[in-house]
Amino acid sequence: MSDCIFCKIARRDIPSEIAYEDDEILAFKDIQPLAPVHLVIIPKIHLRNLNDVTSEHEQLLGHLFGVIPRLAKEFGVAETGYRVVTNNGTDGGQVVGHLHVHLLGGQALNAAIG
Ligand code: 5GP
Ligand code: ZN
Repeated sequence: MSDCIFCKIARRDIPSEIAYEDDEILAFKDIQPLAPVHLVIIPKIHLRNLNDVTSEHEQLLGHLFGVIPRLAKEFGVAETGYRVVTNNGTDGGQVVGHLHVHLLGGQALNAAIG
């Protein structure tokens, strides 16, 4: 997707502070962090949100979630705790239309879920 912000970040057309990268996924620091640790983890392929996910993406998403505990440890929040959030669509608060997972931590987070 040529005009997608996160595709541009994955292509390095837009700079970001990259925390992790491999062939399938990329993790980078959120530009407007909502917590001391705020990473965004994306699949490199363009999926709009979870509605685009099919059985063919099971390995990819399993891999993406498998990297999260490594990132949590690296950024020092594995033991203190952290939150993993995926916003989907308008009511879900999704602003960037490329599937992504937020990893938030480094402080006690608001208990509200909605
Ligand atoms: P959403 O609300 O779609 O779940 O979250 C999108 C996130 O992407 C927001 O937290 C926002 O701060 C972050 N974001 C948007 N544009 C950029 C950017 O150009 N660079 C980085 N690093 N983060 C971005
Ligand atoms: Zn994209």
